[in-house]
Amino acid sequence: FLEYAPAPESTAILNLKNEYGLFIDGEFVEGSGTPFATISPADEHVIATMQSATDADVDRAVAAARTAYERVWSRMSGSDRGKYLFRIARLIQERARELAVAESLDNGKPIKESRDVDVPLVAAWFFYYAGWADKLDYAGLGPNPRALGVAGQVIPWNFPLLMLSWKIAPALAAGNTVVLKPAETTSLTALLFAEIVQQAGLPNGVVNIITGAGSTGQALVRHPDVNKIAFTGSTAVGREIAKSVAGTGKKVTLELGGKAANIVFDDAPIDQAIEGVVNGIFFNQGHVCCAGSRLLVQESIHDEFIDRLKSRLSTLRLGDPLDKNTDIGAINSAEQLERIRTLSAAGEAEGATRWSPECELPSQGYWFAPTIFTGVSTSHRIAREEIFGPVLSVLSFRTPDEAIAKANNTPYGLSAGIWSDKGSRILAVADRLRAGVVWANTFNRFDPASPFGGYKESGYGREGGRHGLGAYLAPAASGRAVTAASD
Ligand code: NAD
Repeated sequence: FLEYAPAPESTAILNLKNEYGLFIDGEFVEGSGTPFATISPADEHVIATMQSATDADVDRAVAAARTAYERVWSRMSGSDRGKYLFRIARLIQERARELAVAESLDNGKPIKESRDVDVPLVAAWFFYYAGWADKLDYAGLGPNPRALGVAGQVIPWNFPLLMLSWKIAPALAAGNTVVLKPAETTSLTALLFAEIVQQAGLPNGVVNIITGAGSTGQALVRHPDVNKIAFTGSTAVGREIAKSVAGTGKKVTLELGGKAANIVFDDAPIDQAIEGVVNGIFFNQGHVCCAGSRLLVQESIHDEFIDRLKSRLSTLRLGDPLDKNTDIGAINSAEQLERIRTLSAAGEAEGATRWSPECELPSQGYWFAPTIFTGVSTSHRIAREEIFGPVLSVLSFRTPDEAIAKANNTPYGLSAGIWSDKGSRILAVADRLRAGVVWANTFNRFDPASPFGGYKESGYGREGGRHGLGAYLAPAASGRAVTAASD
């Protein structure tokens, strides 16, 4: 099922509407807020307008999800729920080309990434959790685990459809209904997904998609009839959400920011490591929570490694996200571009050395050339703060102990990479890294069967695999006493 369609390269395949409603109770409806436009970050043209869901719209969506949960979804057998999820997965494959083009258009990511990575993984996530729906007794939560009810889900803009699949697939498999709010700059593919939900014939109200800004997300997570909150986004907003739900009894998972170390030892397979470092930070313009944004390279190979890295960067092509040859697409928004510029300026001001390959930036849209900073120290802002852009901060180390200390010297703990020829070294170092995911001689590799999540300020809870189901289930039999009276 990981096969993909032939290369898409034109928007002719799209059949977009000019205006989109909110998707509530199985149909597109008008919202009561002020509509907003979604634009293409590559050239700033308006793609479509969407609704800003107000508190009243959020109420409607949550009510629809509640009714669907009580009347239909919680009463349906796991195998029937699984059939709907399989149907969604197959429809995603059927519409793969179109979804990939829409994602690149709305988000700015290179088409080869949305076509070969995002959309195949979205289908894989639905296939994987479809398979779990009738096997929940084996999820390790005791016999007969129960759904939590209505899940309120809020996602970011960097992997719009993929983050949606990470949220919706396990929630539905476990028997919950959902209200999902996509990010305001990238809601297009969530609305195309709503069409797929209709095509799949899902009972009305099982999936609801409400668009809008942060205030819509806030109304959703604070709604008293939401039982579970799943949030992926910035640590600042995650913190706010954690505070707002304290004492409400809602179950919460938070997938937040990161500042991963990609550690290259002097015995690493160098060509492979160069590719891994490039992929680690320049994939998706560095808009990746688990991006390898700090390169830690052993001092004995530092200069040679950086020279070779620079040569490799000089071959990357930046430009039109819909061009199949593009490696680096557009930055998702003017606001994000500003943040990347500000932190890069701080890197220079604090004394690190900045370098970018010769690279002409398009005159319209939001663009930032791939950039590396050498001579970075652990106290620099570019070594501590998440830039969330195509900017690599390079530090060096002498011993494994120093590498581990530097890698762990961050408030985050989402992911890390190790490049070495020695299996024993990889295992020993991995064991001491405070990161939820550690890749060895690879980077940014995802699999629906593999749990993903952070330590420290990167959040709590795990998505993916059996663990991802646990976030949407309560262990019914073990925690509940049932006494039956008989006459
Ligand atoms: P963000 O926190 O600004 O927004 C995320 C979502 O939350 C958006 O839909 C937004 O509208 C909504 N939101 C904003 N304020 C809210 C509030 N007060 N209450 C409820 N919802 C609110 O983050 P972003 O800029 O969209 O995404 C980038 C961040 O996401 C980065 O920090 C990145 O590391 C993180 N991220 C983490 C993971 C992960 O799995 N750990 C994955 C992708 C992105």
